[in-house]
Amino acid sequence: METLPCMSKAELHNLTNTLTKSRETLQHMRGLPPQLKRDLRSLFKQAANENLPQATVATRLLELYERAVKVKTINDNPASLQEAIDVDLQGSLINELQHLIAELDFEGECGEQLLSIRNELLLGVSPKRLLELSLDSIRLVVYGTQQERKQSQKFLEQLNQGLDKLRDHTSKNANEGERTAKDRQLIANDLVEINHSIHTLANSSSPAALKAQVQLIGERMHALIERNRTLEAREQALIERLHSNTHTLSNLFDQTDSYCRRLNDQQHRLFLDHLTKVYNRAALQERLEQEYRRWLRYQQPLCVAMIDIDHFKEINDTYGHLAGDKALKVIARTMHKALSDTDFIARFGGEEFVVILSDSDEKTRQSILTNLRDAVSHIPFKFRDHKVSITVSVGATLFQESDTPTSVLERTDQALYLAKEQGRNRLIWS
Ligand code: GH3
Ligand code: MG
Ligand code: MG
Repeated sequence: METLPCMSKAELHNLTNTLTKSRETLQHMRGLPPQLKRDLRSLFKQAANENLPQATVATRLLELYERAVKVKTINDNPASLQEAIDVDLQGSLINELQHLIAELDFEGECGEQLLSIRNELLLGVSPKRLLELSLDSIRLVVYGTQQERKQSQKFLEQLNQGLDKLRDHTSKNANEGERTAKDRQLIANDLVEINHSIHTLANSSSPAALKAQVQLIGERMHALIERNRTLEAREQALIERLHSNTHTLSNLFDQTDSYCRRLNDQQHRLFLDHLTKVYNRAALQERLEQEYRRWLRYQQPLCVAMIDIDHFKEINDTYGHLAGDKALKVIARTMHKALSDTDFIARFGGEEFVVILSDSDEKTRQSILTNLRDAVSHIPFKFRDHKVSITVSVGATLFQESDTPTSVLERTDQALYLAKEQGRNRLIWS
């Protein structure tokens, strides 16, 4: 559906800023195991040189870890007044960490370990455990990124070796080609000479001289046939080597092609929400910024809607988090289908989504968002043999005068709040 946002100059600039800040944070951060600190420092350094987007996740994890340390410190010295706030803070940190992990997409053992951390978080953990899990997550991100880099380097080394060999073979083949062409020319010259000798046979002075001449011509012809045979064998070998080179080249091309595709997929996945497969928050920020700039320039209607699932906590509490996860996936897919190719949907966080409808008239906007809400309410959910209906509330708005992406998101949030207050399963414009 939507076009994939790629890394713009602004994003690169943000990444560089983030990395500089992260390096500073790392410097004054206490309590981090020294090896991990060293690994992070080297990751940030590499990331600055190679624009590794994974480093932003490491940064966010690091910030989260810093906040988790504070929560734990307060928790270890409880001041009754702050307890209520801390419980909330702890919960939101757990939630944030599980979302951050869901954004990652490492293969193999790393991916599995991150998944099991996420499952543990979904069940709720103590402040001490949250600290341990955030540290483990940072370690896994660093390790996973290192592994991915190693794999890329290995591939590039193999590619280089393959290309070196190919260059070597090609230059040998070129030399051999030149040599055979020269030999062919020599044979042709000899043939001309023999031809000439045949023409002079008529002028022979005696039968004996004629016989000697014919014999000589016969011997030269014989030698020529031998040389020609050898040359043909060399030419055949050369053709075979050329074929084998073509084959090697096409293999290298295929490998490079699939490597590029894998890289593109990885890049693509960095912008996809791991659970629901719609775009993630990073992609939303990028897209909203793009649409905003387009709106500033052309002033075509630009609509943004925030969607929140109603009473979703009850689904989790009654049927478990895994059922909740499944419901989230189905709801995201349904909303995605209810939109057209030019619309955009991203998971904003938790059970909240944001939709961007660009350049649509009032009637179309209203009908798209109403259809989307209707479509969700008609999904025939069944949990433990209970038919369940899930609805969403929608808060929508249009970009106006002095709006920025932030002010627009705040307004959709207010509209969403009204939709919830007025009984949920409705669309409110603000
Ligand atoms: P409301 O109608 O007011 O929105 O009620 P609600 O229960 O949906 O609202 P609340 O914000 O209190 O709860 C949102 C819940 O969504 C809490 C959280 O456990 C759940 N949630 C967030 N992310 C995920 C996820 O990735 N998977 C699952 N299963 N649940 C999630
Ligand atoms: Mg919510
Ligand atoms: Mg909700």
